Amino acid sequence: YTQSKSLLFSSFGEPTDVLSLHTHSISPSLPSGSVLLRTLAAPVNPADVNTIQGTYGVKPPFTPHLLGAPQPSVIPGNEACFEVTAIGPNVSGFSRGDWVIPASTGFGTFRTHALVENAEKSLFNITSGDPSKKDGLTPVQVATVSVNPCSAYRMLKDYVDLVKLSIESYQKGNDVTGGAWFLQNGANSGVGRAAIQLGKLWGLRSINIIRERSTPEQTESLKQELRDLGATVVFTETEFLDRSFRDRLAELTNQGKEPIMLGMNCVGGKSASAVVKALSQKGVMVTYGGMSRQSFPFPTGPQIFKRLRFEGFWLSPWGNENPAEKKKTIEEVLQLMREKKFQEAPVQEVTWDWDTEEKTLKEAVQGTLEGFRSGKGVFVF
Ligand code: NDP
Repeated sequence: YTQSKSLLFSSFGEPTDVLSLHTHSISPSLPSGSVLLRTLAAPVNPADVNTIQGTYGVKPPFTPHLLGAPQPSVIPGNEACFEVTAIGPNVSGFSRGDWVIPASTGFGTFRTHALVENAEKSLFNITSGDPSKKDGLTPVQVATVSVNPCSAYRMLKDYVDLVKLSIESYQKGNDVTGGAWFLQNGANSGVGRAAIQLGKLWGLRSINIIRERSTPEQTESLKQELRDLGATVVFTETEFLDRSFRDRLAELTNQGKEPIMLGMNCVGGKSASAVVKALSQKGVMVTYGGMSRQSFPFPTGPQIFKRLRFEGFWLSPWGNENPAEKKKTIEEVLQLMREKKFQEAPVQEVTWDWDTEEKTLKEAVQGTLEGFRSGKGVFVF
């Protein structure tokens, strides 16, 4: 029997209030079609906390008798890198030692082991029996590839053809280093850092907005960190919201002749309103996060006179509607990681071993929405 531990919740609320650590054992005789996984790494994303709070776009069903828990429960967590440790009857395409990730959201990854039925449908196999596919990758990279980099990739590709705009600009005789612009707030988030890097690889230029740190030195150091990743320019939110930003923008965009057609909004509130102001004629604003917990007006003037488009991006339904495309996106980013062309976002590793206390695990989840963090929390096993 395999002894396993999982974080569970059986009602919505703050993670430290509603999560509990549950132990159960998994029988060595696996059901048909299933595989047994050992978790190697699992990040805590903002959406996981919102799901536990009951404020996310989709509420998970509480499953009766889940892992023998006394009350109907949910295992939180959407992303992880797992290792296949045992394979049940009637399963093909898996070898022991393979690294796999959940194929869709709602998997429940905050646990040491997972017995996965319908393995072929439920999992993406990263290695498929070829251990050399792990070369150049870490479990943390694999565990964090499917949400943040995938979202950044889709938002940069699916709303405005920035690459085409760049080519048109070169054809007009502009410098090849002057690719099309995009603008984003929350630029130091996992999604933001992924967008910076992909944008750079695709020849695009980015205007990146971050919140001020507690000292000017720390702010400058974060700006530098993002420029090192490939950011063209980085501004603080204060600089962005100041009247003088208009002039800076005019300078950067050659008086608007090199337009800003895509704005990516992670934050909402005033910052989002400033993104709207900065967009050029017929630009698109894609909202994917609301970290400030504030909404923003859809201002009438710019909507009409700049003919702006407002779109919402949500990865989970996109992935369900486009599973093959999702797999391709993930594979492409993993390949960039292997080639050292793409860095994962900074993380704070939280070791989860047999003796780790429930309190430590719950606090790691709770801390996710705090802001000004040095990195995303990731359980490593
Ligand atoms: P990370 O945990 O990597 O980063 C969090 C980011 O939010 C940081 O940039 C942080 O800035 C910022 N932030 C935190 N608190 C505030 C606040 N009060 N006001 C303004 N900014 C704040 O996040 P992820 O990249 O994983 O996710 C970022 C957002 O994107 C989340 O809202 C998440 O739900 C959303 N998302 C949405 C997806 C979708 O499909 N729609 C997919 C993936 C992510 P600072 O360092 O200054 O605190």
